Amino acid sequence: MNSPTKNKLTRNIVIGMFLGFLIGGLLNFWNTNWFIDQYIVGGAFFVGGSIFLALLKMLVVPLVFVSLVCGTTALDDIRKLGRIGLKTFLFYLGTTAIAISIALTAAVLFQPGVGFALSTDKGFTPPEAPSLIQVIINLFPTNPFKAMAEGNMLQVIVFSILFGIALIMSGKAGERVSSIFNDLNEIIMKLVFILMEVAPYGVFCLIAKTFATEGFAAIKPLALYFFLVFGVLLFHALVTYPSLLKIFSGLNPVRFLRKIRTAQLFAFSTASSGATIPVTMEVVEHRVGVKNSIASFTIPLGATINMDGTAIMQGVATVFIAQAYGIEMTFVNYLMVIVTATLASVGTAGVPGVGLIMLAMVLNQVGLPVEGVALIIGVDRLLDMVRTAVNITGDAVVSCIVGKSEGQFDQDVFDQE
Ligand code: ASP
Repeated sequence: MNSPTKNKLTRNIVIGMFLGFLIGGLLNFWNTNWFIDQYIVGGAFFVGGSIFLALLKMLVVPLVFVSLVCGTTALDDIRKLGRIGLKTFLFYLGTTAIAISIALTAAVLFQPGVGFALSTDKGFTPPEAPSLIQVIINLFPTNPFKAMAEGNMLQVIVFSILFGIALIMSGKAGERVSSIFNDLNEIIMKLVFILMEVAPYGVFCLIAKTFATEGFAAIKPLALYFFLVFGVLLFHALVTYPSLLKIFSGLNPVRFLRKIRTAQLFAFSTASSGATIPVTMEVVEHRVGVKNSIASFTIPLGATINMDGTAIMQGVATVFIAQAYGIEMTFVNYLMVIVTATLASVGTAGVPGVGLIMLAMVLNQVGLPVEGVALIIGVDRLLDMVRTAVNITGDAVVSCIVGKSEGQFDQDVFDQE
């Protein structure tokens, strides 16, 4: 299948994004009147953006289910599954731990919260961080249709893999159903392609709406925090990932980053790794060259459990809040932040703003004032967009490393322009 994410589409998405940024920014700057608020920003932009997001999300569950069943049945040796799963999981946890460690170090060095001198005033009960046992039990659906209806990605993944294994073991019947799944996979991919054709307009609406309502005024008092998170996110995307990719797969990182650009743009515009799954899978398979048997598993799993960008925000935010309230953090506290933030990212799905909820869990765990979350809410939407692009970059990198190490990688696809 010829990938639609080649240059022309990417260029159009960039244009849509740029126009959205410009028009949204101008509307925000001019302090718009009720007509523009109600009919343009809250009307056309909101409707266009919401429909686009709904269409993307609509594809996620069918695509993951069908594609992962195909991916499982395409594995020549089913025993490989355990190894692939373990490898992917360890890479995801490892990159997240590296991400928070860099963020904590940067925050300790640059001290973004010093000088705020706030006092605590507890009045908000945060959600509990999920325990490891809960996370493990929750992997298994009691009802696969409920899991699909709720978009519970980990449960959908477990059911799809089991279904795929049963197909392989079912002889002739399995082969017949398997070929139907392969056809379905082609059809759903076509649906993804169709949706991508309208992406420039969808992206325009999402970005214009965001920038018309958000503006940049909130950044000023939090400039050090904002740019520190931003800087660490860039560092992770442009230094940590390329180094890991080079070391573990030998692939050219510059070419890799160029090839996954479209997925990064989608992640940035939607602020949701979950909604970006169809596009991430498309680029990782058809532009980068990871075989479906690996990509269909690693990408949806990554969108759910691997959130390095979010972890970076949490690392910086925790230190920022501790400093703002003048609370000394111990070495054990730092370790706690690393463990809790990594676990919280496993237990929560990639949707807009979930990072803040996870932050509340982390603060609670280390005994910091949870109401500190309010300090950074003003700039969170913008950071959410950037960190989501980092989140899906991490998924794509690990998918590549695992695909390459398992011999499930098409070098010719990667070498094509
Ligand atoms: N929006 C992020 C994602 O979907 C999660 C977050 O950081 O809030 O990956």
